[in-house]
Amino acid sequence: MKIFNTSQIQKWDAYTIKAEQITSLDLMERAATACFDWLTEHVTFHNRRICFFCGVGNNGGDGLVMARKCLEKGYAVSVYIVHFSSSQSEDFKKNLQRLIDLKATINHLVEDNSSFNLKESDLIIDAIFGTGMSRDISGFTSEIIQLINQTGKEVIAIDMPSGLSTSSLLKNDGMVIKASTTLTFQCPKLNLLLPDYFKYYGEVVLINIGLSESFSSVEPSSMFYVDANFIKSFFIKRKKFDHKGTFGHSLLIGGSFGKIGAIVLATKAAIGAGSGLTTAFIPKCGYDILQTSVPEAMVEIDNDLELAYFNYKVNPTVIGLGMGMGTSEKTIEGFYRFLKHNSTPLVIDADAINILSKKPSFLELLPPETILTPHPKELERLIGKWSNDYEKIDLMTDFTEKHNCILVNKGANTLVVYKKEKYFNSTGNPGLAKGGSGDVLTGMITGLLAQKYTALQASILGIYLHGKAADCALEKGISEESLTASDVIQHIDNAFAFFSS
Ligand code: ATP
Ligand code: MG
Repeated sequence: MKIFNTSQIQKWDAYTIKAEQITSLDLMERAATACFDWLTEHVTFHNRRICFFCGVGNNGGDGLVMARKCLEKGYAVSVYIVHFSSSQSEDFKKNLQRLIDLKATINHLVEDNSSFNLKESDLIIDAIFGTGMSRDISGFTSEIIQLINQTGKEVIAIDMPSGLSTSSLLKNDGMVIKASTTLTFQCPKLNLLLPDYFKYYGEVVLINIGLSESFSSVEPSSMFYVDANFIKSFFIKRKKFDHKGTFGHSLLIGGSFGKIGAIVLATKAAIGAGSGLTTAFIPKCGYDILQTSVPEAMVEIDNDLELAYFNYKVNPTVIGLGMGMGTSEKTIEGFYRFLKHNSTPLVIDADAINILSKKPSFLELLPPETILTPHPKELERLIGKWSNDYEKIDLMTDFTEKHNCILVNKGANTLVVYKKEKYFNSTGNPGLAKGGSGDVLTGMITGLLAQKYTALQASILGIYLHGKAADCALEKGISEESLTASDVIQHIDNAFAFFSS
């Protein structure tokens, strides 16, 4: 799914209105009804008042439609109009009149009269500003926002938490509604995917308001939300006469004394992701462990007790390396010799990333489109510190352009950056925040790259399936707390099931 900015969303609304020959008022009704339907399914109305804070633009209009629908159902409703401007949108005015006709009590919050009293059980709906917000909030509206935040009540934001734009840096931190849930229309917005603003948007729910699909297929965007449909667009199904040679040979290099588990996990994950043949190249100390724990894999060992020579004999299609590898002088030297002679596509993780951070000149030796999978700390060592997510994305972009590589920044909504293109993952859960899960991801991406996927596709498919496997494990009853990297490997099959059947 493409991620659009404010002006593209406005174009999308206008396109839909024209294509379907409806009015903007109809579209407002449709969007607000979809949000109301979500509320009725997910919120308890019993003994509770729903307090709508509505601006005087179209987001406020959405709120008014929802308030009307709640009133029609007999729910307790309070409406507060936040008069941040003297001009009101036409559709807002029409919906305000419809509420007045229903004899609803409407409270007007203006400059010198902006107080309100909320009860214990009240639920707040924030419909002050939506995606159209173009300027930073100040004065009277910011006071209202602060008052709402101070109530400590559950807040559900409509489209965007008021004060947060769709896709620009927030300058006035603190002047934003803190929502526990954001019901955003049709597609995710960049700012609803960035860790910096999580404290404002909370859980994000995509509400399908039926905007025209033909618009999104032609409107260009360099930002994508990686969901099941996106994966389907390039997923390769196995054919009857395919054989193991069709699916490549993955070589996993890593492990050190006490960290053989990392390479065991990566090797199992590469096999689980469909690698045709898989070999692990490890220090001597891990030989018995690997042979016994992954009988499907071939094993080669370094002549040393740690990785020092990189003297493997196989001829792999792709190499994934770094997991538990260590960063000793011997390993750094061996890694340098390896890079100097290697032209096989690479997936680089963990200690191999740390070595590249210490020895930036090695970056010049990477084959084109090398995939690097740093967690946030590894990323910082590699590209330098950032002061906000926008700066981080810029640094990642510059790095991938300079070194012609792909960066996979791991975490919630894992972000894949390849030059101008950005891909945000939709799958995964905090159960993955545990040692070992990153090793599984590297193994999976390596196993996918060994097949017929491009480096970018293997990265995107890898992050999606890895997160999906973790989600499937939870669906089977495993808790986020108890989820293990091995559970993720065991559920790769469920993640594939969405596409391969
Ligand atoms: P280490 O490198 O410290 O040994 P590791 O390799 O197991 O640990 P990471 O490299 O940090 O772990 O990778 C963690 C994996 O878990 C990544 O794929 C990341 O996207 C995922 N993950 C971590 N936290 C979350 C979260 N809160 N929500 C979703 N996914 C997460
Ligand atoms: Mg890791």
